[in-house]
Amino acid sequence: MERRKVGILGATGMVGQRFIQMLADHPWFEVAWLAASDRSAGKTYAEACRWKLDTPIPAKIAAMTLMPNVPEGTPSGELPKIIFAALDSSVALELEPKFAAAGCAVISNSSAFRMTSDVPLVVPEVNADHLGMIDGQSWRKESGGFMVTNPNCSAIGLVLALKPLEERFGIESLFVSTMQAISGAGYPGVASLDILGNVVPFIKNEEEKLQEEVAKLLGAVRGDHVEMLDVKVSAHCNRVAVEDGHTECVSIKFRKPATREEILAAWAEFSPLRGIHEGQDLPSAPDQPVEYDAAEDRPQPRLDRMRGRGMASTVGRLRPCNLLDWKFVVLSHNTIRGAAGAALLNAEILAMLGKLDAPKGAAAGLVTA
Ligand code: NAP
Repeated sequence: MERRKVGILGATGMVGQRFIQMLADHPWFEVAWLAASDRSAGKTYAEACRWKLDTPIPAKIAAMTLMPNVPEGTPSGELPKIIFAALDSSVALELEPKFAAAGCAVISNSSAFRMTSDVPLVVPEVNADHLGMIDGQSWRKESGGFMVTNPNCSAIGLVLALKPLEERFGIESLFVSTMQAISGAGYPGVASLDILGNVVPFIKNEEEKLQEEVAKLLGAVRGDHVEMLDVKVSAHCNRVAVEDGHTECVSIKFRKPATREEILAAWAEFSPLRGIHEGQDLPSAPDQPVEYDAAEDRPQPRLDRMRGRGMASTVGRLRPCNLLDWKFVVLSHNTIRGAAGAALLNAEILAMLGKLDAPKGAAAGLVTA
């Protein structure tokens, strides 16, 4: 099968680098276009990027030239119709709509449009049915372009663990306290003098994002918008001196009683994407999205963040809670499952659903591979 050409906006940042790494041998997508800030335009990727991952920059990517970060900056015909965006939200707010208006499928990591009513906020195992909302977007009707977002890096790992519990028992309220890795702040991120030997009990806007995104992800599509799940969420977000991997301590109150065995079965049996594509899993989907580790001291970021090639959420320490019903710990890789891998899985499910092809009547329209 010919691979679809994709571009990356914000290609030199922490999430952009993960995109490069995860797309290196992707069976469906091929990186054909890169852009970052104006400072980087015109440089080769190797010159512009301070590469921080433990695999080398793929040779083909290292030699690619970064394009201007606007659709019209690329010679006609060379702008891919699929754009992965890894931009700061203030930059995304300005740039992402330009690419959607130019006929691109914009698959975004930033918070800029996550809560916009006609923009789906999606984790494929949790709410793939929300993707239908793109057909109502004005970009889709006018140019064939559209926008899909993935959640905040803490919300993704958490919501994977919550979805099977919501389905079986209903969630009334939730208390979550996070320990978030420094790579979640991008590069250069938090100054070493602030974080080494320390915990910073504040991440700007993070608690609000976690609270509202969980309710949208677990909500239901009603016509042209998502009706938020009626759940009370209280979040504390902390930055800790861990390189990669967000750990979250969760207490939960259910609407229906749940035993320990029933909760463990809900996680173990949760595999909504298994065999979804012609009997196969999607290329980036983990075999088991939620893995339970029964050891008394797991999950831990260094030991568990790469489960499912970094795409699984690891849960452990399930025990009764004195305040709510149950409590547990959940861990996920913030730049893989929490960012680039999340967007990639969104693109894969969009491809499988035929949403990367032009809708009938779109003026420009998306290309079909
Ligand atoms: P980052 O390391 O700071 O990278 C930012 C990228 O944006 C760089 O490629 C930078 O290019 C580019 N950029 C900066 N200013 C620009 C401008 N004016 N126009 C165009 N491009 C510009 O950030 P990150 O951690 O990768 O995060 C990217 C987005 O993903 C953010 O919205 C973040 O909240 C979200 N996110 C991050 C994580 C995580 O774990 N890190 C998880 C989930 C979501 P230059 O190199 O040229 O400056």
